[in-house]
Amino acid sequence: MVFHLYNTLSRKKEVFRPIKDKQVNVYICGPTVYNFPHIGNYRAYVAGDLLIRYLKYQKYRVKFIQNLTDVDDKTIRDSQEQNKSLKEFTKPFIDGFFEDLRTLNILPAYKYPRATEHIKDMVKTIKKLLDKGLAYKTETGDIYFAINKFKGYGKLAHLNEEQLKSGASGRVSADEYDKENPRDFALWKAWTKEDGNVFWETEIGKGRPGWHIECSSMSSKYLGQPFDIHGGGVDLIFPHHENEIAQAEGAEGRQFVNYWFHNEWLLVDGQKMSKSAGNFYNLRDILNKGYNPLAVRYLLIATHYRQQVNFTFKGLDAARSSLQRLWDFMKKLDECNGEGNDEVVNKAVVNAVKSFEDNLNNDLEIAGALAAVFDFVKEINVVMPSLSKKNVKEIKKIMKLFDSVLGFIIVEEGKIDTSIQKLIDEREAARKAKDFKKADRIRDELKKQGIVLEDTPKGARWKRV
Ligand code: AMP
Ligand code: ZN
Repeated sequence: MVFHLYNTLSRKKEVFRPIKDKQVNVYICGPTVYNFPHIGNYRAYVAGDLLIRYLKYQKYRVKFIQNLTDVDDKTIRDSQEQNKSLKEFTKPFIDGFFEDLRTLNILPAYKYPRATEHIKDMVKTIKKLLDKGLAYKTETGDIYFAINKFKGYGKLAHLNEEQLKSGASGRVSADEYDKENPRDFALWKAWTKEDGNVFWETEIGKGRPGWHIECSSMSSKYLGQPFDIHGGGVDLIFPHHENEIAQAEGAEGRQFVNYWFHNEWLLVDGQKMSKSAGNFYNLRDILNKGYNPLAVRYLLIATHYRQQVNFTFKGLDAARSSLQRLWDFMKKLDECNGEGNDEVVNKAVVNAVKSFEDNLNNDLEIAGALAAVFDFVKEINVVMPSLSKKNVKEIKKIMKLFDSVLGFIIVEEGKIDTSIQKLIDEREAARKAKDFKKADRIRDELKKQGIVLEDTPKGARWKRV
């Protein structure tokens, strides 16, 4: 089976064919940097990472671009509230985002373009749209996209005639809006006093761009038009991605993107994890409880990207123990020095690689791919004592290959345990401060993760049970 990818545009799994042989251009919408992303947001970035890693596994060169939305309604509102410049306000969130990406072992993009540094490109696109009669300026200086002038409007979200008619009646200036009600949307927002010192003096007036134009201008600037894959969470299908299509295809008169890739929600108690619902966890909240970041990565990846997944700490514990099985396996391999068992190893390798690839070729069917890895580990475990150094080399090579896609099998020595050590240090500090309640709580927390502590005169020692 060749690689098939579900395309939101056609609502079908399609054979993946890149525009240029062996080169794939990918854009995944990045964060709006007005706060620290929660782990729901990271589901979108981890899903993109899985896709990109699997494309690389298939020997494609991948050019991956991810935007930073550093000007929009929310960044302006919050920076004004805190009396900070936009740049000063967004900096810690941008730094935090990059740190989290590294922590979750997400491969870096080729470039992270910032909206504020691409105003000229956006103005150029807006001018084209005005010239073609697809956009209009209002008396206040705002510029809107006229959705009834663009024939393909609604093709990604599959909006029907009724929805389009009901939407043709109004305008919306907010960056995010009601999914049921398509409207003419703002390409350019004329300066108002609420914007304070956030504005650009341009040929189309004094103001700032709308959110949607940021992504379509920056993606085609770096990736060309059309380019191969554009992704994000399902909430971005409408209006954000629908509007991106309208802008890019309206301005250039040709296809914008070939494959649309959308991930489903990370839920908490059956509800979408979101800032506004208040049911969110930042990565740091979780790491501070002593969890390993790779367990978070595992949890976010292990359910198919088009299925919803519920976040629980129990789920995180289960992810942690699955990882432990893999890590223990890798460690045990080093102790093998037997006469060898080529037949079993060769057969297991061939089967595992085939099943791993067959599953991922089926729209990144991750459950099957993980089963291939764990079955392989199980089969090899049975013959473990007899493995030769040569067998071990071969097995490690395959695990490394799997890890190039999964990103959680091979970890530097010591990295696994940094979060545990952090908790142990915290417990020591609590004991010194005679806060025995806290110290006991941390001991219990560690116990839940299978770690028991032994207090010695030289400090606490730990072992896994
Ligand atoms: P935002 O910064 O709100 O634009 O979101 C960044 C990315 O995270 C977008 O692709 C969203 O669709 C995605 N996203 C937000 N919340 C969740 C969630 N609970 N589960 C999965 N993806 C999400
Ligand atoms: Zn976007």
